[in-house]
Amino acid sequence: MRRIPVFIMALLTILQYPDPRLHKVAKPVAEVDDRIRQLVKDMAETMYDAPGIGLAATQIDVHEQVIVMDLSETRDELRVFINPEIVWRSDEQKVYEEGGLSVPGIYDEVERADRVRVRALNEKGEKFELDADGLLAVCIQHEMDHLKGRVFVEYLSPLKRNRIKQKMKKAFCPPEVENNPVLQILQHHVFPRTGTVTIRRPAKFGGDREFTAYEDLERAYAAGEIHPLDLKSAAADHLIDILAPVHDYVCSR
Ligand SMILES: [Zn+2]
Repeated sequence: MRRIPVFIMALLTILQYPDPRLHKVAKPVAEVDDRIRQLVKDMAETMYDAPGIGLAATQIDVHEQVIVMDLSETRDELRVFINPEIVWRSDEQKVYEEGGLSVPGIYDEVERADRVRVRALNEKGEKFELDADGLLAVCIQHEMDHLKGRVFVEYLSPLKRNRIKQKMKKAFCPPEVENNPVLQILQHHVFPRTGTVTIRRPAKFGGDREFTAYEDLERAYAAGEIHPLDLKSAAADHLIDILAPVHDYVCSR
C-alpha cells in the first residue's frame, strides 16, 4: 500500500483521555467522497506527525467510521479502513502492551483476539477484506474500539483506570516551563554531567529522542512534543546514572 500524497495538510488536535468526546459512537460513512478523502489525508498527516501507528476519526472529534494506520518502520504503508467490520475473530486471545495517542505515556496489557478478519472500504470506496494477526490485529481492534467510543484503558481495573485518569488530568495542564523542577534538574544536574538526555518512548510511538543541548529539550517540551510523564522518567533515569557512583562511594565506606 502507498502513502497518499498529501498536498494540503492540516494537523488536527488529538483528544486526550478522559475527554468525554472520546466516548461518542461514530456513524458509518454514507459515501466515500472528496470530503472523506480529505479527512483521511488530514488524519494520516496527524498520525505521522504525532507520531503514532493508528488513528481513529473519533480521536480528532469527527464521529464517522474512518481509521488510518501505518505499522511499517519506513512509515510509507498507509492503511485506510472506512466502515470497518470484524467478520471473524479467533477464539485464541493474546495479550499485548497497548498505548495510544489519546493516552500518551500510558502503556498497559490488554487481551484481544489473536487474529481477525476485517471488512472495510478503502479511500476509493472499494470494499476489501483483510486477515490480520499480530500487531495489525491488535491495532485494528484498538482503533475500532475508538469508533465505538471505547478507550483501551477501560479494559483495565477500575483502580488502575482511576490512577490513569488522575495522571492524565495532571499531565494535561499546559507544559509548565518556568520554575519546572524537572526541567531544572535536567538543566543543572543532568546536562552538565552527561551532555545528553534521552527521552524514552516505545518504537511504535516514534522511539527514543536524544537531546544534546538543554535549550533544544526545553523548546521541544514547551511545544508539547514531549509528554510530561516521559520527561519525568527521563530525569529519573539519568539521576539514577548520576547517583550510582555516589551510592557506590557511600557504600564502600
Ligand atoms: Zn488509541
